[in-house]
Amino acid sequence: MTISELRKKFLAGETTPTAAVAESLSVIKEKDVDIHAFLDVYEDAMAEAEAATKAYADGKGEEKPLLGVPIAVKNNILIKGRKATGASKILENYVAAYDAAVIEKLKEAGAIIVGSTNLDEFAMGGSTENSAFGPTKNPRDLSRVPGGSSGGSAAAVAMKAVPMALGTDTGGSVRQPASYCGLVGFKPTYGAVSRYGLMAMGSSLDQAGVLSNSVADAEMIFGLIKGKDDRDMTTIGPDTFKEVSVKEKYTFGVPRSFLKDGIDPDVLELFERQLEELKAAGHQVVDIELPLFEAGLAAYYIVMPAEVSSNLARYDGIRYGARHEGKDLIDTYLESRAKGLGPEAKRRILLGTYVLSSGYYDAYYGKAEAARALMREELNGVFETVDLVVTPTAPTPAFKLGEKEDPLSMYRQDIFTVPVNLTGVPAMSLPMGEVEREGSSLPVGIQYIAPHSGENRLFDVGKRTYDQKAGL
Ligand code: GLN
Repeated sequence: MTISELRKKFLAGETTPTAAVAESLSVIKEKDVDIHAFLDVYEDAMAEAEAATKAYADGKGEEKPLLGVPIAVKNNILIKGRKATGASKILENYVAAYDAAVIEKLKEAGAIIVGSTNLDEFAMGGSTENSAFGPTKNPRDLSRVPGGSSGGSAAAVAMKAVPMALGTDTGGSVRQPASYCGLVGFKPTYGAVSRYGLMAMGSSLDQAGVLSNSVADAEMIFGLIKGKDDRDMTTIGPDTFKEVSVKEKYTFGVPRSFLKDGIDPDVLELFERQLEELKAAGHQVVDIELPLFEAGLAAYYIVMPAEVSSNLARYDGIRYGARHEGKDLIDTYLESRAKGLGPEAKRRILLGTYVLSSGYYDAYYGKAEAARALMREELNGVFETVDLVVTPTAPTPAFKLGEKEDPLSMYRQDIFTVPVNLTGVPAMSLPMGEVEREGSSLPVGIQYIAPHSGENRLFDVGKRTYDQKAGL
């Protein structure tokens, strides 16, 4: 069910928050033994649900747009009084002392958080296999990954435990799991949504995003969580947040040369079919060149680990994180980090400190940042002639657990999503069809990329091409 359908039922008295939250908890109880989407389930949500049910009964249901709606939240987003581990051993027992800005806003809107979801440790990965607490499985096929790093959030929505879950997207972590699980996955413009209370991975790339069943729901949630926040200096308000126009007919740009290597032929075929549908609806589809986008992966895997190495320095067993006493202070740092952090976190810290070290800074980090500036220019140039850029979200459908042992093959899944974070623009993944693999029908997504602050265009196209067709 979508949020808006649920909300209508609440207002019409056809169901109650008590029933909806009880249903959420029972779906989790039944299915999560196998799927493992959740790290923590909040049974005390029932008390909140009862209060919300009473508010509807008292005619106060209209006052809050999400009153009584059960949602799930990725476990790298702080919820006051709840465990926030980032799926890392080093924060295994950490309890958040305050609400993240996005949580404040959703609570204020009346949402009921029924649990926190699994992720790759500190959001580093694309399969949720890097969680220190075990992987999440794809509800469509339990032998496959749900994507990542927001795999728990995607699985929570796909297994119908909640109509919406929050994720974070540093290089595709909302869009790619949405693609693998058959959901809408939306990543806002950098700075549109406050990062206050999000565990930082790559601070210049991170944004909170939405996993939902409809574009209209994603739009509604965005309306609630966006906005300037003094606690996050990178947030942009209405003065700088200049919306771009929606149109009757759009021009879509397809970066053709980008769509060659390593893309599953079935994914490509579904993508071509979508382009045909756009044309049939009277839109224009043109080929564009984005040569620098193709270097996006290389730039991302320098910039991101550099920021990771700096952001994760705080988890040293003294300032933050579980302490493992050593024979002296240095030894305590070493022991705590060695025991507390997983292999992917360590890999990225090593890479990051390397590219930032003196002598290599200019050769790697400086160059990647320069490439990033050029990518931004290149993309702005393209947006002078097209309204939206369109690509598949990921090169393949969901892969098998354990299939991508070599980190590089995992990183390659991010080829279409990371340029979006490097340039700070908004993007959305929408289900575009399913492919058959060994008896399973696996969803795959199409990605629409809009200019800076062009969210309304994404929602407009999404509602016209997806919601309407799906009868939402
Ligand atoms: N898969 C990407 C990575 O491993 C993206 C992660 C993310 O967006 N948090 O870095």
